Amino acid sequence: MIRVNNIKIAANRKQDLEKEVSKKLKISKKEIKEIKIVKKSIDARRRDIFYVYNIDVQINNSKRFIGKKGITQSLDYSYKFVKAGDKKMTKPLVIVGAGPAGLFCGLILAQMGYKPIVLEQGESVDQRVKTVESFWQGQKPLKTNSNVQFGEGGAGTFSDGKLTTQIKDSRCRKVIDEMLNFGAPKDIMYLSKPHVGTDNLRGVVRNIRQRIFELGGQVLFDSKVTNFDIENGKVNKLQINNGKKIAVEAVVLALGHSARDTFQLLYKKGANLKQKPFSVGVRIEHPQSLINDSQYGKDYEKYNLPAADYKLSVHLEGKASVYTFCMCPGGKVVAAASEKGHLVTNGMSYYSRDDTNANSALLVNIMPDNLESDHPLAGVHFQREIEKRAFDLGGGDYYAPVQLVKDFLNDVPSKKLGSVKPSYLPGIKLTNLNNCLPKFVTDSLKEGILELDKKLKGFALNDAVMTAVESRSSSPIRILRDDSYQSNIAGIYPAGEGAGYAGGIMSAAVDGIKVAEKIAAIYAPIKTEE
Ligand code: FAD
Repeated sequence: MIRVNNIKIAANRKQDLEKEVSKKLKISKKEIKEIKIVKKSIDARRRDIFYVYNIDVQINNSKRFIGKKGITQSLDYSYKFVKAGDKKMTKPLVIVGAGPAGLFCGLILAQMGYKPIVLEQGESVDQRVKTVESFWQGQKPLKTNSNVQFGEGGAGTFSDGKLTTQIKDSRCRKVIDEMLNFGAPKDIMYLSKPHVGTDNLRGVVRNIRQRIFELGGQVLFDSKVTNFDIENGKVNKLQINNGKKIAVEAVVLALGHSARDTFQLLYKKGANLKQKPFSVGVRIEHPQSLINDSQYGKDYEKYNLPAADYKLSVHLEGKASVYTFCMCPGGKVVAAASEKGHLVTNGMSYYSRDDTNANSALLVNIMPDNLESDHPLAGVHFQREIEKRAFDLGGGDYYAPVQLVKDFLNDVPSKKLGSVKPSYLPGIKLTNLNNCLPKFVTDSLKEGILELDKKLKGFALNDAVMTAVESRSSSPIRILRDDSYQSNIAGIYPAGEGAGYAGGIMSAAVDGIKVAEKIAAIYAPIKTEE
């Protein structure tokens, strides 16, 4: 196959790709045996809006085109399993956490024949959805083991399911391919900013678990690891739910960024933990139509375009940088707490991204210097304090404190909502968010909002709604690992976002795969009885 790059078609025209390819290659349509979109992006930089495609084309004698402008050989990015080691496994291989890192680690190991056991403290995805939705409706109390952070699928299950990442790793292809196998929308294969949507993600997660089962592995829910037995510097047993203990050969810790009690346990057990920068701030909501106007121009309605997104940042002189993160076009702000008496926000969208508001985290970097001490868990302490303040300001019952942008900038409590209706459930309380976050954070946010308005017209809209507090965008710690990916406690393999090696669904999944490869390179797969 050859790759034909940079085919531009006006967004309001019929997208006849075969025709465009035949024009570019100067051949008849009949000569084209197959075309496959590899990448599709939107170019809205000028008045006319274009879709831009890279396309793989199957034709006879294709080599004659290579080297011509924009035409290259298409490369094979299919995943190659590592060569398995020969050490015999005498005890089970256990993965703690069924988020993207744990599930992809488990899937690869299962595909290679290792029959891993995945332990997840939360519920299966179907039960978890019921639990979370009844919490959002204010019908059931927060379940601390199963919520927006915890449960099958991990933290991103109630998300926009964005798969964009800054990492450049060929394993991303494997993640996309497996997501497609397990039911993700086909366009994630080629969109430059793919998203799965929370609705599709739930099915993908369920199907990955099913496949691990079929391959002889296990995924156990309501199974929290509450202790580790360590002998001669090596992990020997795990305790589940403060009860039974199981012997283990190796343990992958794919805990996510909110596993605070397990971080504390690891600290007590002598694992090497280190502070790392993280961020805090708020969710900001605008009308999606304002974002579309700003990104696509006033005429955008004549094109059939997806809800527009944005990604903004500004470096402030003498202050902490401000940036937007995890933007959810046509989405909702969600209650994402995992501890009683603490309030956390985040955002999610359905695949259709057709809700009225756009939302995004608006964050300020927190560096180790901003923390009270050099204790490895000082960042967790910092997060907890502002989450508690947000809970109290909201008035309890997980109502979120909310303020309009104009009032936040003027440091006066909001009294009345304007044109933007907040989407957060179970409810909100209008207040002054300057009392929720530290002054160095609110000072940066104020200046940042005005600066970001210069980059995206309307960002500082008077009526835009700010909901606090966004405190779990990344892990405040790193669990150190060596070249073999083991911690200083032998047999423990920290993985994914909680361990400080990923930031998002894709990079967490890729890190899970990397850890699986390290383990597979040591051990022989388990022979299946005939
Ligand atoms: P997690 O997904 O956090 O999974 C860790 C799992 O370990 C949890 O299920 C937890 O219950 C379990 N666990 C922890 N401790 C124990 C224990 N002791 N015993 C048993 N189980 C345990 N990222 C994106 O890339 N795109 C997005 O659109 C996006 N949107 C998001 C929206 C929301 C609402 C949230 C909360 C996050 C979002 N993220 C998004 C971030 C993304 O979800 C995380 O980066 C990713 O899930 C990290 O994967 P992980 O496997 O490392 O950890």
